[in-house]
Amino acid sequence: MSRPAADSNAHWQARDLAHLWHPCTQMKDHEQLPPIPIRSASGVWLEDYDGKRYLDAVSSWWVNLFGHANPVIAEAVSRQCATLEQVILAGFSHEPVIRLSEKLAQITPGNLNRCFYADNGSSAVEIALKMSYHFWLNQGRPGKQRFAALGNGYHGETLAALAVGDVPLYKQTYAPLLMDAHIVPSPDCYLRQDGEEWESHSLKMVSALEDCLANHADSLCALILEPLVQCAGGMRMYHPAYLQRARELCDAHDVHLIADEIAVGFGRTGSLFACEQAGITPDFMCLSKGLTGGFLPLSTVVTTDQIHNAFYDDYNTQRAFLHSHSFTGNPLGCAAALATIGLLEDGSVLTRNADTAACMRAAVAPLEHHPHVAEIRQTGMILAIEMTPNGTRHSSYDWRERRGMQVYRYALQQGVLLRPLGNVVYFMPPYVISKQEVQIMAQAAIEGIEIATGKGC
Ligand code: PMP
Repeated sequence: MSRPAADSNAHWQARDLAHLWHPCTQMKDHEQLPPIPIRSASGVWLEDYDGKRYLDAVSSWWVNLFGHANPVIAEAVSRQCATLEQVILAGFSHEPVIRLSEKLAQITPGNLNRCFYADNGSSAVEIALKMSYHFWLNQGRPGKQRFAALGNGYHGETLAALAVGDVPLYKQTYAPLLMDAHIVPSPDCYLRQDGEEWESHSLKMVSALEDCLANHADSLCALILEPLVQCAGGMRMYHPAYLQRARELCDAHDVHLIADEIAVGFGRTGSLFACEQAGITPDFMCLSKGLTGGFLPLSTVVTTDQIHNAFYDDYNTQRAFLHSHSFTGNPLGCAAALATIGLLEDGSVLTRNADTAACMRAAVAPLEHHPHVAEIRQTGMILAIEMTPNGTRHSSYDWRERRGMQVYRYALQQGVLLRPLGNVVYFMPPYVISKQEVQIMAQAAIEGIEIATGKGC
C-alpha cells in the first residue's frame, strides 16, 4: 500500500486518527469524513494541507473576532512571550493582568469592577456559581444553595455548568451526576404565537421566572442566563425587555444575576456587551472566547466590589475564595486580550459590524420564502436560519435525520465552514469578513439548505 504524501491532508489525517479523541464528535463519523488538518489561517480563511481554503463562518467556535493570525494580536503575544510567559497569580501579579483588569472594569457596564480569571468559559461559569453561593454563605445565609436558569440555555460542559444548562444533547447522559437547578421556560421568541411581537412574547415568559423567584428566593443564590442569544441552544433569540425584568426580579428577591456573555460579549450582538441593550448590570459577568480575539484560552468573571468585599476579612480561610487554576491570569492571554480590546476600542468596529450584519441579512433574502425555512433571525453579527419540514415554526425535522450535517458537508465542499446546530444553519463570522466573503458564505448556506431539505419531505 502506498503511503500518503508527506504534508498532505491524508498524511496528517492518518496520524490524527491514531492518537486523537476529538471534542463534541462521534469518532466513528470520521470513517466517512476525516478531520480536516489546517496548516495555516489568515483573516476569515483556513487552509488545509492540500491547499484547499475554507471560509470560517463560525469564527472557530465563536472565538475569533479580528481574523486568524491577526498581526496586531500576534505581535502583542509575541512581545509578551519574550518578556514573561507565566507566573503564579497567588501572591504575585504582573502588568498585563493589572492592565487588563483596569480595562475590563472600565468597559463593562455599571459597577462591575473586579476580575477573577480562569482559562475557559465553563470554568468562568463554575466560578460565578461558587462565588454567588459563597457570598450568601459569608452573609450568614447558608440556606441559599440553588440556582435558576433558562430553558434551552447552555453554559458549558463541566458538571455545574451542565447542571444549569438545558440542552438535552449535552446534559441528558450526565443527568444523574448533576445538581438540581430550577429551569424556567425560555423567553426564546421562536416559540411566540404567530403575529406576536418579540417583546410581548419575551415579557409573557417573565411570569414563570417571577413565580420561581417568589417561591424559592430563600434557597436561591443566582439566576444565570445568556443575554439575548441562546447560542448552543440553536441561536434562539429574545428581547432585551426580559433582561430588564429579570434584573428587577433578582433585586426584589435578593438573588444574583449572572450574565454569561462568553459567546455574546465583545460586540457580537451589536453592542459591546449584550446586557447594554437592556441597560442592566449583572452581579457577575462571565467572559471568554472573543476576550483574546480567539488567540489564547482565557476567561474572567467580572463582579462588583460589594461582592468582593464580602470575602474580605482577617485570616479566616473559609471566608476567602480559594478557587484557583494553574494558568489563572496567564500573561500571554492577557496580552492578547489587551490587544483585542484595543482593536475593539477603535469606535468604527461596531459601526462596520452593523453594516456587515445588514449585508448578511440581505445575502440570505432568497431563503425568505423557502418552503422549508421557518425563520431567519438575527441579532447583530449572529444570523440563524431554521429549517423545518413545512416552513412554519410549528413543525420540526427529526434531528436524527442530520439535515444540518448535510449542509455542513455541502458547504465544506464549497470551501465554507458552517457548523449547523441541529436544523439551524447560522453565521457568526469574524468581524473582518468582507462583503464579497459574505456572499460566498451565504451562497453555500442557500445551496446547502436546498440540498438538505430537497429530499424526503
Ligand atoms: N457559556 C456559553 C454561553 C458558551 O457558548 C460556551 C461555549 N460554547 C460556554 C459557556 C463554555 O465555554 P468553554 O467551551 O470555553 O468551556
